[in-house]
Amino acid sequence: MTARNSAITARLRARIAATKAACHICGQPIDYTLKTPDPMSFELDHIIPLAKGGTHDATNTAASHRTCNSIKRARVVAPIVKRSRSLDW
Ligand SMILES: [Zn+2]
Repeated sequence: MTARNSAITARLRARIAATKAACHICGQPIDYTLKTPDPMSFELDHIIPLAKGGTHDATNTAASHRTCNSIKRARVVAPIVKRSRSLDW
């Protein structure tokens, strides 16, 4: 990540933290005093992943719990889990 990018990230995080927004994935409130790597801490989530062409700005970012964010990311690998039959859906 470039220095310019992390400056934008810091601004986006501060902007969301100031609104005390709830997690946009599970809808529950976020305790903004918790720090990484606490699973319930605040993490900036890209609504459309950067890898899929999402933008790194206020229109494409929202508040999420660290744990919700990682669950969302894990869905990308879900079909592999399904094929291995370790989870029978
Ligand atoms: Zn959440």
